[in-house]
Amino acid sequence: MIANSIQLPDDGSCAFCAYLNGTRPYTILARDEVTAMLVTREQRGVAHVLVIPVRHVETVLDLSDEEACNVMIAVREAARVIDRAERRPGIAVWQNNGVPAGQSISHVHFHVAGTLPGGRTEWGDVPELPITETEALADKLRAARDDLAVEQR
Ligand SMILES: [Zn+2]
Repeated sequence: MIANSIQLPDDGSCAFCAYLNGTRPYTILARDEVTAMLVTREQRGVAHVLVIPVRHVETVLDLSDEEACNVMIAVREAARVIDRAERRPGIAVWQNNGVPAGQSISHVHFHVAGTLPGGRTEWGDVPELPITETEALADKLRAARDDLAVEQR
């Protein structure tokens, strides 16, 4: 197979893998064997969640069929949870592959974010929230996720 032409960020060891294996603190909203949902410290919407495969996969080009299915289902779940928790009039989903596209961590991740007051999401600089604040966001999102799970029984 010919290697793809995607230019990955030169980010050394993978931050997302470090979060998943517990060597760096981060807010993990939910995880199973294939996917995980993280509450990003760079909130670009109301609220802003990342969906990733648990396996270290660099870009969308490299996802297995199983990962592609499960990641998309997790993206849908993240959107439903944000809808329930935040009641925003819009939810944006985006995903970047390669430095020219804006990828900054070389582990494929989907952004799911409720729109800001006034619309859209923030593409400029945002503050990096402390873990205490992303944990507080996660508490609200987990409560919404529990509500949805009860309704789906
Ligand atoms: Zn990784």
